[in-house]
Amino acid sequence: MAAARAGGGAGPGPGPGAGQPGPAALYVHWPYCRKRCSYCNFNKYVVPAVDEAAVRACLVREAQTLLRLSRVRSITSVFFGGGTPSLASPGTIAAVLEAVAGAAHLPADAEVTLEANPSSASTPRLTGFRAAGVNRLSIGVQSLDDAELRLLGREHTAAEAREAVEAARRLFPGRTSIDLLFGLPGQSRSAWARGLEAALGLCDDHVSLYQLTLERGTVLAAQVQGGSLPTPAQDLLADMYHTARDTLVAAGFRHYEVSNFARKGALSTHNLSYWRAEQYIGVGPGAHGRFVPWGEGSCSREARVQTLEPDAWMREVQSRGHGTRRRVVLSPLEQLEEVLALGLRTDEGITQERWGRFSPQLSLEAVFGVPGEAQELQQQGWLVLDGSGLRCSREGLALLDLLLPALLCQLQRRWAPRRSAARDGDEAVGVISSGE
Ligand code: SF4
Repeated sequence: MAAARAGGGAGPGPGPGAGQPGPAALYVHWPYCRKRCSYCNFNKYVVPAVDEAAVRACLVREAQTLLRLSRVRSITSVFFGGGTPSLASPGTIAAVLEAVAGAAHLPADAEVTLEANPSSASTPRLTGFRAAGVNRLSIGVQSLDDAELRLLGREHTAAEAREAVEAARRLFPGRTSIDLLFGLPGQSRSAWARGLEAALGLCDDHVSLYQLTLERGTVLAAQVQGGSLPTPAQDLLADMYHTARDTLVAAGFRHYEVSNFARKGALSTHNLSYWRAEQYIGVGPGAHGRFVPWGEGSCSREARVQTLEPDAWMREVQSRGHGTRRRVVLSPLEQLEEVLALGLRTDEGITQERWGRFSPQLSLEAVFGVPGEAQELQQQGWLVLDGSGLRCSREGLALLDLLLPALLCQLQRRWAPRRSAARDGDEAVGVISSGE
C-alpha cells in the first residue's frame, strides 16, 4: 500500500549539540498480505499462517525500545501501514497504541491512521479498530472497475470497495481517505475520467492518487515487457494527472501534495510530518525512521532502516529489543537535500523557519536567490521564492521530478565552499554498526 512521512519537531537540525529531544511521528509496519497484487513491490509477505501473538509482542517491544533510544516524549501521530494492517486483529493495534502511550505522551486527539484493504474492512472489524484507538482510515480502493481490479490482482471487487468506504465513512466521518491508481496498461483517458467521477461520488474528504509504476520483478511489469499488455504513453499519463487534479480541485479539494488532495482541512498530519522533515520513528520489518538517538549519547539525526524479513526481524527484536539493520548519520547537506526534496512536494513548500532550523548559516536566499537554476525556474513560473519560503507553483508541482535535480545541484554547489572550509570531524558522516 502507500506510504509514505515542524515546530521543534525535527530534532536538532544539522548543528551538533543543538536542540533537545522533540516530538516525533510513529510508523508501524504490518508486513503480511493475503495475496500478492500484480504491481506490488512493497515489503510484504504472503504466508500460510501468522503467529500474531509473537508479531504483536515484537512490535510492542521495538516501539518501547526505539522510544527509549530516541528519548521522544511526545508522539504526534501513529500510522499503521503495510502490507495489509487491516489483517491484524484490533487487539494487536490496541497493544501497540497502549505501549506507545505508556512510553511517551500520545494525545487523545493524535491522528492514528490504519491502512485497510477492502477485503478486510467489514463493519465489525472497523468497529474493532476504532475501539482500539484508530481514528482515521486509508482504504486501498485503487479502482472502481472490476476489470481493472482483476488486472491489478486485487483481492476485492468494486462493490466490496464501495461497501468498505461506506462503512468507513459511517465510523470515521471526515477521516476516511481512499487511494486510487491511474496509468494502468490499456487504461484510456475516458475510462480514467469515469473512474474518477465514480470515486468522487464515493469518497470522503481525502484522496491519494498514485501513478502506477511498473516495478521490476512484478507480474504486471513482466506482462508489459513481454508485450501482452501495452506500455502507457507518457503524454497520456500526464494528461490523466492533470485531469484528476482539475476534477478534484473543482470539487473543492486542496491539492496539498503532489499525490494528495484534501478538503475541509482533512490533510494527513502524519504524512505532513514526513514532508516537513520532522522526526519519525519506524517500527516493524523494513520500517524507516529519522530521529536523533539521544538515549545513546548521540545528538545527530540518523536515517534508520529495520530488518526487512519478518522472521529475521523478530529474532533480532527478541534478542536485543529492536531490529535496526542499518543506521546512517545524516550530514547537514544530506538533511538539507531531504528538506528540499520532501518540502517541495507540498503546496506550502519549505518555510523560512524550517530551512533556518536545518541551515542556520546559509539562508534560502543565499542558496536559491542567486543566479542559477532556481532563478531560471522562477522565471519560467514553476518556482516561487519569497518571504514565506520556497515552493513550487501549481504548474511546477506537476513537474517536480524534472525540477528537483537542478535544485539539488544548486544546493550542492552553494554548499561546497562551506563544506571544504569545515575542519575535519566537524561534519561526521557515516554508517554505524547496527549492533548496539
Ligand atoms: S495489498 Fe497488494 S498492494 Fe498492498 S501491500 Fe499487499 S500486495 Fe502490495
